[in-house]
Amino acid sequence: MKLTEAVNAVEEALPLRRFEHTMRVAETAGELASKYGGDADAVQMAAVLHDYAKYRDPEEMLQEINRSGMFAYDIEGYGTEILHAFAGALLVEKELNIRSSVILQAIASHTTGRAGMSLEEKIVFLADYIEPGRTFPGAEKAREASRHSLEAGCLEACAETIRFLSGRRLPIFPHTFEAYNEFAFMQLSER
Ligand code: GDP
Ligand code: FE
Ligand code: FE
Repeated sequence: MKLTEAVNAVEEALPLRRFEHTMRVAETAGELASKYGGDADAVQMAAVLHDYAKYRDPEEMLQEINRSGMFAYDIEGYGTEILHAFAGALLVEKELNIRSSVILQAIASHTTGRAGMSLEEKIVFLADYIEPGRTFPGAEKAREASRHSLEAGCLEACAETIRFLSGRRLPIFPHTFEAYNEFAFMQLSER
């Protein structure tokens, strides 16, 4: 699938505001890729498609995820917000015939992160967090850190997400903690 076809597919799948967010994520991801490397084409495609499943029915997404065997445990309790990332990867493969594991993995991990993210995954994860439309607390700090390194930016994004969720006493997906720890270890070893 060509990038322009992917843009058309998400424009159809998403409301205008979410489509505009998607285009800003693609732009920010392009900037990060030119600074930090990675497969720039895969990064563009993953950024364009990252929220493809955002407005799907949570029940259907959960079914899709469970059917895929992606997780050995039940992820239902972690809330509906994280489903669109995992379901997005499954649905772009099924519906748009995207086969690149680099692209699919970057879509799957864009909300929760995970330990051992590829360069492309880190770029999409961080771009989603720091695109210029993000005004929540922590976005500016993550933007600042991302000028120093991709990992420093990701650490800020993980830390703030954990702070936000724990502040609301919401469950936190294990991948988010594992990503946080990996980036925190990295930062400590650099001191
Ligand atoms: P968006 O799709 O562009 O809005 O951004 P994200 O894909 O990052 O989704 C953001 C939502 O997912 C927010 O409501 C976060 O609070 C939520 N979220 C992110 N990580 C986790 C997590 O580990 N657990 C839970 N329950 N929610 C999370
Ligand atoms: Fe998302
Ligand atoms: Fe997004």
